[in-house]
Amino acid sequence: MATDQQWTKKTFTLNTGAKMPAVGLGTWQSKPNEVRDAVKAALLAGYRHIDTALAYGNEAEVGQGIKDSGVPREEIWVTTKLDNPWHKRVEEGITSSLKDLQMDYVDLYLIHWPCSTDPSDKTLKTHYADWDFIKTWQEMQKLPASGRVKNIGVSNFAIKNMEKLLNDPSCKTVPAVNQIELHPNNPSPKLLAYCQEKGIHCTAYSCLGSTNSPLAKDETLKKIAEAKGKTTAQVLLMWGLQRNTSVIPKSVTASRIESNFGLDGWSLTEEEMKQLSSLPDRFKVCGDAWLPVKVFFGDDE
Ligand code: NAP
Repeated sequence: MATDQQWTKKTFTLNTGAKMPAVGLGTWQSKPNEVRDAVKAALLAGYRHIDTALAYGNEAEVGQGIKDSGVPREEIWVTTKLDNPWHKRVEEGITSSLKDLQMDYVDLYLIHWPCSTDPSDKTLKTHYADWDFIKTWQEMQKLPASGRVKNIGVSNFAIKNMEKLLNDPSCKTVPAVNQIELHPNNPSPKLLAYCQEKGIHCTAYSCLGSTNSPLAKDETLKKIAEAKGKTTAQVLLMWGLQRNTSVIPKSVTASRIESNFGLDGWSLTEEEMKQLSSLPDRFKVCGDAWLPVKVFFGDDE
């Protein structure tokens, strides 16, 4: 159990040897005209890790915010993701992201969802008949050689799909990261343990419970936060960090961006961790009903 770490300076070492900052800024639902300032504010507050995605439609502004901050590119960890309708166009996908981000490379490139959506169906409700994430991963594996992508990984991979990927003979590179939904109402201990056993680092998304989080009203969480003189958001982030997952809280509010980074020199006790890990309520921010295939099977709980 980690105690009183300087979490804002801490990195997690991935299976490639790369060191990823433990705390990053999330940018999903960060709207145009606000995400640029949010990214700049985060970097000036000391964040060194930014999470974006082609699907968020904000890579250009994220790139501008990074430039505005004046923090050298090599000091920042940037993650972006391949969108579902781009699975047959991995090279094009990363080229588009790098162009928008105004960068030569990203530190981490993820398959956003294990779902190869056919873009010719404008409703995005059709999965390719002849292409799945195994083939996408074959293309992803080629990317690090170019230097344009330093590390590759996946997102929203449940145990079933992870097994399928790792057991396929074409899988030569074990994903460095699986970015998944993790918070006390979706703690996914089996999936987390599975990834950790395979040497795959997990990043916790929706680590605060996302927009209008029901967790903000949780009495157990509130009590722990009050007792420690911390915000409920800080306690949720500490819970994630002490489970050895990186956390990427999203905010476009400067004061929250700063307070969410107040994670140094304190920790949760084992008892507090246990209480948070055993909250009875369950909810998932991101389901799979909007996708043409199922990607969650109950094995990630
Ligand atoms: P989140 O970070 O759990 O929560 C964000 C929400 O919490 C926003 O409404 C934000 O409001 C609010 N908030 C932030 N700090 C707060 C504080 N100190 N006190 C009260 N409210 C606070 O949600 P998320 O955006 O779903 O997840 C985080 C990141 O994970 C995303 O932004 C994205 O980068 C990534 N993600 C990835 C996937 C994937 O499929 N791989 C899916 C979901 C998310 P304001 O912004 O208004 O301050």
